[in-house]
Amino acid sequence: MGFKLTGKDYIEYIKQAYALIHANGDYITQLDSATGDGDHWINLNMGFEKLVEEADRLETMEIPQMLAEIGTIMMSVIGGSSGVLYGSAYLAAAKEMKGKAVIGTEEMCLILETMLTDMMLRGKAERGWKTMIDCLGPAVDCYRICMAEEATEAETAIRVKQAAKDGAESTRDMEAVRGRASYQANKGVGHLDPGAVTMSYQIAALMDVVKSKM
Ligand code: ADP
Ligand code: MG
Repeated sequence: MGFKLTGKDYIEYIKQAYALIHANGDYITQLDSATGDGDHWINLNMGFEKLVEEADRLETMEIPQMLAEIGTIMMSVIGGSSGVLYGSAYLAAAKEMKGKAVIGTEEMCLILETMLTDMMLRGKAERGWKTMIDCLGPAVDCYRICMAEEATEAETAIRVKQAAKDGAESTRDMEAVRGRASYQANKGVGHLDPGAVTMSYQIAALMDVVKSKM
């Protein structure tokens, strides 16, 4: 038992995340039109599309180099707040993975945790402010708890995926403090944060790939 993701496996995840993001265009654009400027899906989808185009090149790289290249592509193609936040988070994760040839459960948790810390720092955002942090944060907490409880990796993957989904759902009742929803009179209350929902798609795809590699 146990998984060890190679660069090729990680790119398989990128392809699955793209498929999920791509299939939900109207829904995400609707969410971002209610609380933001409506471009979140277009930008994120474009970024993932570019990653998939570059798949053959990316999957031959060492893990740290691959993560750094993904970050660079995301930063330049996605643009907006999410482009900077994802780009910077991937670059931080790349540094953390220095010298690692594969991604096991410890490394996976560390990558997600590093991304969370970096995004919070870069976006100057706290938990509960109705952003993608409110999806990634609970997912990382859940991962840590599962490791402390010595849950199986299969169970961990299922629980982390659920925590991300619940986290995204929890943004509905939150008042936005950062991001465009904070400019609205009601601070976006009653609407899901689009960035939290697309983050939950990525974590779902990631955990599905992890499960398939056990
Ligand atoms: P923009 O607000 O520049 O149009 P995008 O449309 O690319 O940004 O992405 C919007 C999403 O980015 C939001 O739904 C939210 O989840 C996330 N977001 C925006 N600002 C921040 C921030 N400062 N910290 C964390 N996440 C943020
Ligand atoms: Mg936007």
